[in-house]
Formats: sequence, structure tokens, C-alpha cells
Amino acid sequence: IKIKITNIDIPVAFASAFEGEIIRRGDMQVEFDGSRVDCFELVQSKDMEEIEDHRIEIIGPEIDEFPEGSKQSIAYIVEVAGKNMQPDFEPVFERKFHSYINCIEGVMHTGQRDMIRVRISKDAYQVGFRAKHIGEVLYAKVKSEFEAVVDKCQVKIYTMPEDCTKLRHELAVPAFDKRDDRLRNLTDESVDVYYSCILCQAFSPSHVCVVTPERLGLCGAVSWLDAKATNELDPNGPCQVITKEKCIDDRIGEFEDVNEAVHKLSQGALEEVSLYSIMEKPMTSCGCFECICGIEPFSNGVVITNREYAGMTPLGMTFPELASMTGGGVQTPGFMGHGKHFIASKKFMKAEGGIERIVWMPKELKDMVAERLNETAKELYGIDNFTGMVADETIAQDPETLVAFLTEQGHPALSMNPMM
Ligand code: SF4
Ligand code: ZN
Repeated sequence: IKIKITNIDIPVAFASAFEGEIIRRGDMQVEFDGSRVDCFELVQSKDMEEIEDHRIEIIGPEIDEFPEGSKQSIAYIVEVAGKNMQPDFEPVFERKFHSYINCIEGVMHTGQRDMIRVRISKDAYQVGFRAKHIGEVLYAKVKSEFEAVVDKCQVKIYTMPEDCTKLRHELAVPAFDKRDDRLRNLTDESVDVYYSCILCQAFSPSHVCVVTPERLGLCGAVSWLDAKATNELDPNGPCQVITKEKCIDDRIGEFEDVNEAVHKLSQGALEEVSLYSIMEKPMTSCGCFECICGIEPFSNGVVITNREYAGMTPLGMTFPELASMTGGGVQTPGFMGHGKHFIASKKFMKAEGGIERIVWMPKELKDMVAERLNETAKELYGIDNFTGMVADETIAQDPETLVAFLTEQGHPALSMNPMM
């Protein structure tokens, strides 16, 4: 028998109205910060008999025992079991935690996996909110939103730093790596279908992401495996199957089936999209892209900037300025929103020559993607340490300095065909 949970037993309110609530340093009772100490959130599927439904266990001290305003470690593991549960659903549940926890009055959540940050306000604490209530919320939401596949659910919350460290390294990181590896072994050619995602139509009514193994959604949060799981969990939901049987143009990645799907899902606003070109029929961008890529005419290359980077790019525009001309669900040849992981993909701007076109990135982003980007550059073009040729804000913020640096480095983009 499945019981539908409507009320969540916590001492504060729970509503989407609290989702944007900010808790300032001075107002916080306690903070769990995954960028400083070992923290993580994880969903794991288990066998039925391993789970006692609605068991919420705190292993370690409750919040009462932490000094006011202190930074602590936390790890919460949501264990689920069900006849129709699949391990592929785990990241889809996990991704919802951000919104679930933010809906709690007086609690703020950012990030995911082992880079989470959770703040609990003094007000929430004073009316009795404790760590176990995070467990109550996760239990109630996972049980009600995923009732089709979750029959039993229990939550374990660890608050001792040594447990968090041990479990992060022995359990969580291997689980995250395993998921990433599964995806890394898939190519666009090796699968039979792609998926659409229209979650962002709430803000950008004609926007459709086409999600493939080598091109994740531009928000960076929806991989092909996630889209597949979302479709299986909710066949009439935001992610639909798109066949890829009728290829029109291999070079730019255009398919008749994809065009038909995009036409229908955009309510007729879009006719044709390519998967691999930034110039010809590029995919649309909504507003939540992690990065923007735009052509840099003096070098025949492209500049990429990310949301976290507040400074100037050699295009003479900042991220918000580029975003205002790239977003909104319309096709803007020469500019494209995309996820961070797409940067090292062999399909990144394949039609225009691929990642060899990248001439500039903010340093922090470059460092983040360097390992995989260099691997791809080595494999595709035999270039060693490609990121060494790519400029950043410490090297150039204007086209003249940029081109001088690229010339000195012998950057391949300089000798490629002009993009326009
Ligand atoms: Fe879906 Fe992300 Fe694309 Fe939005 S940006 S439609 S959430 S894949
Ligand atoms: Zn979006």
C-alpha cells in the first residue's frame, strides 16, 4: 500500500515562495559548506529489505550541539527501493534536492553532489528546526514525487566530520565517478535516440534543448542519461524521445526527425536546428546557460565566458551583456549558450572545426575544463597542452592583445577559414 504524503511534519513553512530566500551570514545558526569541508548529498538504490520506510537517522550531533554561526560538515544519503527503481534515476532525484530544501522557510541550499552549501537561519532554529527535518522533507518529497518507482525510502544524515570525509571518499565520489564514466563511454552515434527538454519553456516559451550523449543541456544539469531517466519516470513530462533516423547533414548534425520534434515542441517557432554548428541553424538558448560562446572575428576563433565570471571578454562584452543578446529562445548565429561539460566534447562546434576554435576563456573556467579539453585536443588534432594556447583575462581583455598572444603561441584558429 502506498501512502500519499501531503503534509510534511516540520516546524517551519514549506512552499516554493521560499525558494529564492537568502540567509545572510549574520542570520545563520549553522552552515554546512562543501567547498570548505567534506559534505555531500546522495541517492542510492537499495533492496527492499534493506530499508525501513520513513526512518530518518541522525548519525552524529544534532544542530543544538553546534556553536551558533559555526561551519560544520553534513552528508545526507537518501536510500530508496522499489520494484521499478533503476540506478539511473538516482541523479534525477538528487537534482531535485536543491529545490526541495530551498522550499523550507529559513533554509538555503546551493550546489549539488559534494559541492553543496546549506544554511539554516537562527529563526528556523529557534522555532525548532533541526537537521532531522531536512530528512523529513527529502523523504516526503521523494516519496510523493517519485511514487511510481519509490516504494520505500529512508534517510541517513551524518554530521561528524570524520564520517563525512570517509563516506565522501569511499561512497559518494566513486558513485559520482561511475555515473560520469557511464556517460563518457556513450557517443551520439552509439545511441538510437536523443531527448528533448522543454523545462525552460516556462521562461522561454519557444526554447527546446536537444540533449545528446555528447551535448548536455545548456544549463549543465541535464545529461542524456538524466533526460532518459526523466522520460522513463514521466513519459508525458519535459523530456521526450527524439528519433534520429533521417540524417540531412552529417557535418552540422541535422536530422529530419529532430527538426520535426523541435518544430512541434516549439509550437512552430523553430523550423530547423543543427546539433553541431554555432553558425548554421544553431540551437536556441533560454536563460540558464552555464556558458556563452561567441565568435571573435579577429582571430577566426570563439570566446567562451561563464556565469561566474564578472569581468570583460575580448568581445567587449560581459557575460550579462552577451546573455541579453543570446537568450530568449531564439536562434542567434555566432552565439550560443551551452553547458561547461560541452566544452571538452568532440561535438563542440564540430561543423566549424571544433574546439580548435577556442581562443579565450576566463582562467577559472579554463582550469576547470583543462584536463578533459586537453585530452580531446590531443585525440582530435594531436595537440599537446592545448589550454596553454588559449588566452584568459590575465593574458588579454582586448582583441589586439589576444591576437598577439595567439600568434606567439601558434594557435590553430589563426590559420583556419573565417567563420563568417
Ligand atoms: Fe532542460 Fe536545462 Fe535545457 Fe532548460 S536548459 S530546457 S532544464 S536541458
Ligand atoms: Zn533554461
